[in-house]
Amino acid sequence: SPSIVWFRDDLRLADNPALRAAIDRGEPIIGLYVLDQQSPGIRPLGGAARWWLHHSLASLAERLAERGGALVLRRGPAERVVREAVADAGAGAVFWNRRYGAAREVDARLKTGLRGDGVTVASFAGSVLFEPWTVRTGGGTPFSVFTPFWRACLSLPAPRAPLPEPRTIAAPSRVPASAALGDWELLPTRPDWAEGLRETWEPGEPAARARLREFLTDDLARYDRARDSPAAGATSLLSPRLRWGELSPFTVWHAAAGTPGAGRFLSELGWREFAWHTLHHFPDLATKNLRAQFDAFPWPPLDRDHLEAWQRGRTGIPLVDAGMAELWRTGYMHNRVRMVTASFLVKNLLIDWRHGEQWFWDTLVDADDASNPFNWQWVAGSGADAAPYFRVFNPELQRTKFDADGAYTTRWAPDAEEREPLVDLAATRKAALAAYEVVKRER
Ligand code: FAD
Repeated sequence: SPSIVWFRDDLRLADNPALRAAIDRGEPIIGLYVLDQQSPGIRPLGGAARWWLHHSLASLAERLAERGGALVLRRGPAERVVREAVADAGAGAVFWNRRYGAAREVDARLKTGLRGDGVTVASFAGSVLFEPWTVRTGGGTPFSVFTPFWRACLSLPAPRAPLPEPRTIAAPSRVPASAALGDWELLPTRPDWAEGLRETWEPGEPAARARLREFLTDDLARYDRARDSPAAGATSLLSPRLRWGELSPFTVWHAAAGTPGAGRFLSELGWREFAWHTLHHFPDLATKNLRAQFDAFPWPPLDRDHLEAWQRGRTGIPLVDAGMAELWRTGYMHNRVRMVTASFLVKNLLIDWRHGEQWFWDTLVDADDASNPFNWQWVAGSGADAAPYFRVFNPELQRTKFDADGAYTTRWAPDAEEREPLVDLAATRKAALAAYEVVKRER
């Protein structure tokens, strides 16, 4: 009886423990991907993510086919659809790499159901370096501060070595019916806004591996020094690759570890771990303040014109407008500028972080359930290891510090300087600090 490998956010053949387990079982293999936008706790994908998913799935299907394998596409709530696929294939085993956050409950129920049907089910660690339940403070609670969290991770056994890519993946003679990828309509049509994405990215595992090699050769040595300047191009651009699992964090870790100057880069992977661990302990991260005293924050009524000006990159603050333009065009924004644009929305426009998080969710190709809300809450001051609320980024100072020659700002927002600023930075900063006083009283 065939094995099913249920692909989720791990669209790769190399270092894929679920695929490895299926190969070791020795029976024919069917790859399965389920487009599930409706199970409880599953957040429907944003537009940029749908674009990426389409292309990454096309690449995965092609790579499986080249090795004799098959990818079956199905749509609907995973609990029902995976069981249907198992029945259609007459499969005797299902393997997957673990998910964290609310999706975990879907997987747990499915595991129980399938085992009840007499099907072998096994899940593996493939998306984070350290399992969330293995990293705890001395008192047994989750960490709320990054530095001791990462120290605790680094004191555990080192992340395992990545698994090699299988050469052959034999499909059974009878493969169950699959949806056509095109019918899922993941790509934008009217209007087709994806031109900038096509120019910027090539989704799929081969391009991901090529970028990793290029980063190690060209950029890692200067990463620590240049990572904060948005025009330098010194960061890895691996975030969508990790988001979709075209590369595993184990592969990235072992490729970089031991290289001089890699510590800083590896600690950024640590922030990714911290975000996922936080989501594991706090599945409502995208909707609820991690620090409950922020529930008392007196957000003024939403000013939709201000929100739209921010979304469209028309605030008249050059670094903010440049970042929002980069995001809209490419589905990506440099980390420093993400912090500045987010701080501007929350602290100068006094707009609830959840509105910004939702916009990033819809426009980022790397948006994920953990990193996006985690970082928004970090900027807003309501999250783990949060920048204190009273730390308000001054976007003009940030521009002189990190884009001194204006290369980034003029590339993305050449006309921003001619616009009137939407708000006065000093006055809005003062108003934000006054609003924060209410939260302080809640302690
Ligand atoms: P590099 O500097 O090369 O870092 C290497 C890898 O480490 C990244 O690919 C990423 O996987 C991880 N990483 C680095 N910084 C962080 C961080 N602060 N949190 C979590 N992981 C990190 N990152 C996402 O992957 N998805 C998101 O949805 C996301 N939303 C964000 C929202 C806001 C408001 C902010 C301030 C940051 C957000 N980030 C998010 C984190 C960070 O900006 C991106 O991971 C980074 O810019 C990606 O570029 P890179 O791959 O070149 O990063």
